[in-house]
Amino acid sequence: MAPKLERFTSPGKGNGLRATGRIRKGEPVYSAEPLACCVSNKAARQVCHHCFTRCESLLRCSQCKMARYCDTTCQKRAWSGHKRECKCLRSLLPRIPTDSVRLAARIIFTLLTPSQRSSEELYTLEEHESHLSSMSPQKREGLSQLAAMLQLYLQQEVPNLTQEMTLVIPPSCQEPLSLIAKVTCNCFTISDGELQEIGVGLYPSLSLLNHDCRPNCVMVFEGTKLHLRAVQDISPKEELTISYIETVSLTVDRQRQLEEQYHFTCHCQRCDSQDMDGLMLSGDEAAWRPMKEALPRLGELQAEFDWQAVLEGCSSLLLPDGGAVPDENLYKLRVTDLALDACVHLAHWEEALRYGEKTLPVYRQYYPDPHPVHGVQLMRVGKLHHYLGHIEETMDTFTQAYEIIKVTHGSAHPLTCDLRGKLEECRAELSQPSSSR
Ligand SMILES: [Zn+2]
Ligand SMILES: [Zn+2]
Ligand SMILES: [Zn+2]
Repeated sequence: MAPKLERFTSPGKGNGLRATGRIRKGEPVYSAEPLACCVSNKAARQVCHHCFTRCESLLRCSQCKMARYCDTTCQKRAWSGHKRECKCLRSLLPRIPTDSVRLAARIIFTLLTPSQRSSEELYTLEEHESHLSSMSPQKREGLSQLAAMLQLYLQQEVPNLTQEMTLVIPPSCQEPLSLIAKVTCNCFTISDGELQEIGVGLYPSLSLLNHDCRPNCVMVFEGTKLHLRAVQDISPKEELTISYIETVSLTVDRQRQLEEQYHFTCHCQRCDSQDMDGLMLSGDEAAWRPMKEALPRLGELQAEFDWQAVLEGCSSLLLPDGGAVPDENLYKLRVTDLALDACVHLAHWEEALRYGEKTLPVYRQYYPDPHPVHGVQLMRVGKLHHYLGHIEETMDTFTQAYEIIKVTHGSAHPLTCDLRGKLEECRAELSQPSSSR
């Protein structure tokens, strides 16, 4: 099949990818395996380090006690990639290096093993930008510490990093600092079906994709394989874009994040028109300001899994005159989402459903194109309806989710198949005589 995308020079943005012909909404555009990837430290106990599946009980590598696998098959398959890493991990115990250090080390191991690398088909690691020259001194300092950590971590396996790398690795990637900078700017977060982070990976060809705050493509994962899919109709020669960040956020916040993390100023149409900022700030500021101010603390409580405290904090904000703030308000939406999350963890199903339902019309407004976040939110609400025995509502919500997920994930993706199964279940339940329900 002829490739649907090609590399080009995007005016004002440098390298980019564009469509070679017409691409319709919902079409797959490109799929890629990573040059290297690893499970995130925070998911390391719940996810198989080979196939990236979430599992209740995992076998632990007896040597490093860090890597975990579904079964001996996954463990055996992972060994050639894990062997060198295992030795490095052991040498640092009980310390565990950060995700970017572990990923950079895996990249080095891959590069030191000569082979054909399809992941670099369109763009090589050598060509990746490090953005070191445009970084603030503090950021550079942070990266220097990571680079020092990388050298310490690799000591057992690649004691003379710079020298060994000179033999096989292009000059621009040799310095640990430049490599770490390239990795942190260009790696993608690998997420599971619920959009929870499970790993990090470098997909060189797709690092060419530029950002837009209303992108025409989305990326979804199947294990560690990355799929790029169109969420709008795309014309021949049109640039393909993804969003590097959460799109439901104010222009000023998006711009700040893009500058700090990715070192560019966004000039997309949404940024120029400050699209939806007014809607996101709707309501009386005196009423929504307490919500805005409470969010950092609520986020901390969420990170500590103190769900009771999260729920108390959220409901005290939403109950008294939370009604005075329109549901479209961004801060109210975030507080409502946190309340939903807390209720689900505390098994307060009816309350969870009330919060979940409040968010749906707002998600519809803020995600004009099919988006995985919107699809997954509908699935969460659908599951709550199902759990509470509301079959008609379940059917309706799952149907809306399906319309989105089949575009963003495609009909063969496990998440779409799972959803199809759930819809069939509902249909069967609805067709039973009501007395037996
Ligand atoms: Zn596995
Ligand atoms: Zn190990
Ligand atoms: Zn923008």
